Amino acid sequence: MQFIDQAEIQVQAGDGGDGMVSFRREKYVPAGGPNGGNGGRGGSIVLKTNENLQTLLDFRYMRLFKADNGQKGGSNNCTGASGRDLIIEVPCGTVVYDAETDEVIGDLTKQGQTLKIAEGGRGGLGNHCFLSNRNRAPENAFPGQPGEARSLRLELKLLAEVGIIGLPNAGKSTLISALSAARPKIANYPFTTLVPNLGVVRKPTGDGTVFADIPGLIEGAHMGIGLGHDFLRHVERTRLLLHLVDVTADDPIADYQTIQGELDAYGRGLSDRLQILAINKLDAVDPESEEVNAIVSELEQLSGTTVFKISAVSHFGLETLMRQVWQTLDELKAQEEAEQLAIEESIEETAMSLEPRS
Ligand code: GDP
Ligand code: MG
Repeated sequence: MQFIDQAEIQVQAGDGGDGMVSFRREKYVPAGGPNGGNGGRGGSIVLKTNENLQTLLDFRYMRLFKADNGQKGGSNNCTGASGRDLIIEVPCGTVVYDAETDEVIGDLTKQGQTLKIAEGGRGGLGNHCFLSNRNRAPENAFPGQPGEARSLRLELKLLAEVGIIGLPNAGKSTLISALSAARPKIANYPFTTLVPNLGVVRKPTGDGTVFADIPGLIEGAHMGIGLGHDFLRHVERTRLLLHLVDVTADDPIADYQTIQGELDAYGRGLSDRLQILAINKLDAVDPESEEVNAIVSELEQLSGTTVFKISAVSHFGLETLMRQVWQTLDELKAQEEAEQLAIEESIEETAMSLEPRS
């Protein structure tokens, strides 16, 4: 199963500056030679990967990119200033297509990798370049060349970081709509009826993170019945699960246990995956009623974690919930980095101990 984020952008490199027609004019020098300078080169457009970006979210808001034009040539053979190149940052893993021909222009995989996608126009020659024995006073100069313009399609395979789980009707789709800034496309999905609902949720720091609402998690899913199995495989790759329980259901506790049972039965460490637990539809009940608080404390006992009270419809409690989500993701990332560092250090130590002593 592949989730694909797509964006179409237009790029326009800068035009080259025009060459200048100009003649030397000095006191007591009656016929100075031509001294019109060349125009400057237009700015090019370059894509560059930044590993801190995870999605193409920003391209939904900004689709047209234009680099500066080169300046005109001046007199005294001054070449015009070049237009500055425009650097556009994209996530690692971005594949770049020509939107018209569908041809792949590049595949940006490594951090800091660059790809020139539109060449700035060359500056035109000034009239000093046309000086010859036959023409001592050329009146012609060349105009700058236009910068390259292109339509590009960017594609990025996405990995969902947060999986939203819960029984049908818990409010998973509603929550993703309430939170998300964009809906990526789902490609090559083998089933036509039920597809995971994806949303890119903007982090407080700017870039997005992908949430996947997993609709197939139903009893028996671990046995591959219905759609569950494939969805579970996707949940397997998320870092964090957001478990939603419908507080208005007949038996919210049993609902929670059903889902936990599914995760246990599936195995592969899914039930150990970090979970944030929330009860939803608090707008439909009195959030401080005894019944609700009883559900909260029972769920807290069962799960050993805090239960958040939210309403995906009224947005009640979403800010607090999301603060917890971001904090947890940050902690997970820091933990992964620390583990990675420890591995690298131990490799280094081993290497050192293997070095011959002198
Ligand atoms: P999913 O099956 O988990 O994706 O659940 P949906 O998002 O489709 O929601 C199921 C039903 O519950 C829909 O009728 C929603 O309008 C409703 N619903 C979802 N969230 C809330 C909520 O916060 N409050 C109320 N009152 N209804 C909700
Ligand atoms: Mg749904």
